[in-house]
Amino acid sequence: MPTWLVNSQEDMDICLDEQLSRLQTDYIDFYLLHGLGKERWEKLRSLNVLEWAEKAIAEGKIKYLGFSFHDTFDVFKEIIDGYDGWTFCQIQYNYIEIESSTRTPGTRGLEYAASKGLGVVVMEPIQGGNLAVNPPEEIQAIWDQAEIKRTPAEWALQWVWSHLEVSVVLSGMSTMEQVIENVESANRSGPNTLTEKELELIEKVRRKYLEYGFIGCTGCRYCMPCPQGVAIPEIFAFYNRYYTKRGDQDAQKQIINEYLKTVKPENGAKKCVKCGECEEKCPQQLPVRNLIARAARIFERDR
Ligand code: SF4
Ligand code: SF4
Repeated sequence: MPTWLVNSQEDMDICLDEQLSRLQTDYIDFYLLHGLGKERWEKLRSLNVLEWAEKAIAEGKIKYLGFSFHDTFDVFKEIIDGYDGWTFCQIQYNYIEIESSTRTPGTRGLEYAASKGLGVVVMEPIQGGNLAVNPPEEIQAIWDQAEIKRTPAEWALQWVWSHLEVSVVLSGMSTMEQVIENVESANRSGPNTLTEKELELIEKVRRKYLEYGFIGCTGCRYCMPCPQGVAIPEIFAFYNRYYTKRGDQDAQKQIINEYLKTVKPENGAKKCVKCGECEEKCPQQLPVRNLIARAARIFERDR
């Protein structure tokens, strides 16, 4: 359920019927109240969403009810404790984001949901691809210390799969090569399969990425289109690349040049008028306006 679009039980009915019709089915096995956080949960509760969902379950239109989530552990716990009919939930989880934040309930959330018998679906296991790109030299040097060699994407996926509490891992794949790599990798996975030494290496990589001041943009594009044409996710991808080259001025200059060639002036960071529309839509709750202003200072100083 696109929870941001519904304002009444009638909207919920219209939405579900449209979904069933488009999917050409009479029922949906696993139905998510999508993108819950504190405010949306409060709004849905005031609309008696659980009463609506129980009616849809009784009518056979939904089999199992769950929710996907972006907010802190406290809000997550409140939602789980607020209803004993949840079958599953979907949370953002990867080796960078293990602490509770406005994006994820973190490890505590994962463990709490599992302890309450909920299946846990993990989204963003490689943080929108950020953890799959060719890593900076310092991070590659850490991976090189491992006995078993893995690609950055496989390290990230194996880490998530190694948690007993995780039921399913969702990983966006855009090429057949990635599909094959992920299927092979899944075949080698299992709870508690990583050694202590490997977990230590992952922890070192995590700290290094956090040191870089990485922007947790997953490239989901929910913020787009920006009314001023600002290419938000593309700009953040350049920003992350720039910061991982800290201390290497030549490499940073090269990234600035690439930015100026790729991001046209009409889509550049300087076009931002700080309206804040993007921040309302960003599930990662990023301070987009401030970050775009920083990007403008780095990349468009001379434009
Ligand atoms: S704050 Fe800036 S980037 Fe965000 S929607 Fe408004 S103009 Fe676009
Ligand atoms: S909505 Fe947020 S996370 Fe998604 S692309 Fe935009 S800035 Fe990135």
